[in-house]
Amino acid sequence: MLEVKNLVVMAKDKLILDDISFEIDEGESVVIMGPNGSGKSTLANVLMGHPDYEVKSGQIIFQGKDISSAKPEERAVAGLFLAFQEPREIAGLELFPFLFDAYKSVRTARQQDPGSVFSFKEKLDKELSSLQIHTDWSSRQLNQDFSGGEKKKSELLQLALASPSLAIFDEIDSGLDVDALEVAGQAIKRFKNDKNSLLAVTHYQRVLKYINPDRVLVMSRGKIVKSGGQELAAQLEQEGFSALK
Ligand code: ADP
Ligand code: MG
Repeated sequence: MLEVKNLVVMAKDKLILDDISFEIDEGESVVIMGPNGSGKSTLANVLMGHPDYEVKSGQIIFQGKDISSAKPEERAVAGLFLAFQEPREIAGLELFPFLFDAYKSVRTARQQDPGSVFSFKEKLDKELSSLQIHTDWSSRQLNQDFSGGEKKKSELLQLALASPSLAIFDEIDSGLDVDALEVAGQAIKRFKNDKNSLLAVTHYQRVLKYINPDRVLVMSRGKIVKSGGQELAAQLEQEGFSALK
């Protein structure tokens, strides 16, 4: 599904990712942990093609194609999705037309029938209900005055509508109360199957029961410094990252 090969990334002349390599197979879930500032969000953003970052060397291969210099929208059509750590508020951008446009664009580019606005509304209502979001949300503006938890649900709503094959979650569980965590966890479980893959950045074990990762990678100072199973996450949560620094 994804092959990251010797990725070196800079932003404003600063080296941020230093020779990152890993793979995610079809149906696999990989978790990335690591101290603040170690480059986790940069990695997530670079995989999606964020323009702030310069790929100095290395490759990002997605489903057999080198997408290292593809535009974010091309990556979205190919089947990549990123849920932001800090989703932007966009005043004036009403949710319903935004979501419908995004849905239509991605489906049309994938040569799938986007269907009518009515069938979209039906699908949207179903997703809103699964995520326990009030239906009056769709007349609000994108993330404008949303609580932290609502912003995360808004990302998961976009995930469900984009139907990607690889979802990247950048701290999807941060700032969620117990009930919202359960709702988010169930959304993650609905996405997971033997075809879809998942890359999740997190600080907490509590979300791992929903993700059930095949591998845990630990980043420190722009490098992957450790790799292991779920037990590594438990160990890090207990002992902290001090041993890695
Ligand atoms: P993490 O998500 O692991 O906390 P980040 O990827 O957000 O870490 O940041 C890693 C390092 O890169 C930090 O030192 C951060 O300040 C720096 N950085 C991230 N984005 C940029 C940017 N656009 N311009 C300059 N420096 C950046
Ligand atoms: Mg981050």
